[in-house]
Amino acid sequence: MQYTSTRDPRQSISSAQAIAAGISPEGGLYVPQELPKVSRRELESLCTMNYQQRAQWILSKYLTDFTQQELEACVNAAYGDQFDDETPAPISCLAPNTYLLELWHGPTCAFKDMALQLLPQLLVRSVQKCGNSEETVILVATSGDTGKAALEGFQDVPGTRMVVFYPRDGVSPMQKLQMQTQEGDNLRVCAIEGNFDDAQTGVKELFVDSGLLEKMEMGGFCFSSANSINWGRLVPQIVYYFSGYCDLVSSGEIAPGETIHVVVPTGNFGNILAAYFAKSMGLPLGKLLCASNENDVLTEFLRTGTYNRVRPFHLTCSPSMDILVSSNLERLLYLASGRDSKKVTHWMRDLREKGQYTIPEDLLARIQQDFWAGSCNDRQTLAVIGEVFQTYSYLCDPHTAVALHALQEYRQETKDFTKALVASTASPFKFADSVLKALGHSEQMRDGFETIRILQDVTGLAAPGPIQALAHKQVRFNQCIRKSQMKEYVLKMLGL
Ligand SMILES: *Cc1c(COP(=O)(O)O)cnc(C)c1O
Repeated sequence: MQYTSTRDPRQSISSAQAIAAGISPEGGLYVPQELPKVSRRELESLCTMNYQQRAQWILSKYLTDFTQQELEACVNAAYGDQFDDETPAPISCLAPNTYLLELWHGPTCAFKDMALQLLPQLLVRSVQKCGNSEETVILVATSGDTGKAALEGFQDVPGTRMVVFYPRDGVSPMQKLQMQTQEGDNLRVCAIEGNFDDAQTGVKELFVDSGLLEKMEMGGFCFSSANSINWGRLVPQIVYYFSGYCDLVSSGEIAPGETIHVVVPTGNFGNILAAYFAKSMGLPLGKLLCASNENDVLTEFLRTGTYNRVRPFHLTCSPSMDILVSSNLERLLYLASGRDSKKVTHWMRDLREKGQYTIPEDLLARIQQDFWAGSCNDRQTLAVIGEVFQTYSYLCDPHTAVALHALQEYRQETKDFTKALVASTASPFKFADSVLKALGHSEQMRDGFETIRILQDVTGLAAPGPIQALAHKQVRFNQCIRKSQMKEYVLKMLGL
């Protein structure tokens, strides 16, 4: 299976090359040249496998330049003891037609672990396959969740080093503590004076700093990135839709071949795009419901065909979805337009230069056959958390609540009560402040651990192990530097 770029049809590279490169030189994203199909009989046999075996099977359809042994080693390293349940992505039944696919049982208690536990495994082998013997250096600027998930994924992975920069004034106390206490000999974490933009610009400058690149090459290092446009982050996400469907069949909740809807709280459009790939491969999925918070740029796009990023940016209680440019949407536009790279290039240029673009009506109609979109504000989000806890004794996080709200809205509007699988993307204890507020406890300011303790008392539930363990972990990284010192910091870390 070869990969091409959404903006340059002349490109044809292997999956290892696509993963090692991350993004195409002209700015496009890598996509497989055809979509593998899964037959009914193959789907039935998937149902008899465990998560790791299912992952290996799906990955082998896309990563054809990897051997079965390599894929098996990657998958076993990624989905082992670091997940706190028997299976990495268990299902909870909320109501007879509503199921939650819990994607937060990994080391950082959010769904990014599902991809970031596997990406480092794929990345080191991809770099080797490309004939590169250098050590890979991953630089990340983070506003919170991605940095921690990447640190956990790359911790002590041979052949890799990692530096995470976070804005001193831009992450929550809990997120900061999660990063400062990170273990692993191959990584460093450092605060930057300023906001997320300062950290992000600083990292972007390092990636193209010729003096730094020269020294790195002489020292046997090369840069790579772990952000969510890398194909190696998308392909692991296809697996859990297949696995969730198979689990529903195996437990008798749905019949083999029965169509179900999928609901996804959406930010950068990676998670829901993976569901689209699964559907295109033949998994019996009906509508893909795209749920947004008050940053409802995707809802507007999927309803009107106009994508307009020129709008106020809202800080919400579902911060991982506070985003105005959803990068992975480009891959959907490419596939749904019949692989029209000229049009995609044009729309992306308009987005950059004019802040918006509009797709033709026939393309919108085609996209709407698969997608439906809804959004809600913080008040509605918190109301859902309260209702769901009262009605079903199930505690959900704000991102998952946004998805449940969209599902309610869809059912009211369409009277379509088809069974739905809702992606649950974070542990409620990761957003304990908002969740406590939703349950009616918001009187005083408290420190992070007190909030966790109160939420445990109020709900009778235990916080996940990794969050409890933070209370006893030692701070390893508490340095804060200016943006202008980032280069020196990286050089020193690499011993150059
Ligand atoms: C990143 C994230 C999302 C958004 O996922 P995308 O793939 O970017 O659409 C939703 N919920 C949580 C908790 C996240 O961390």
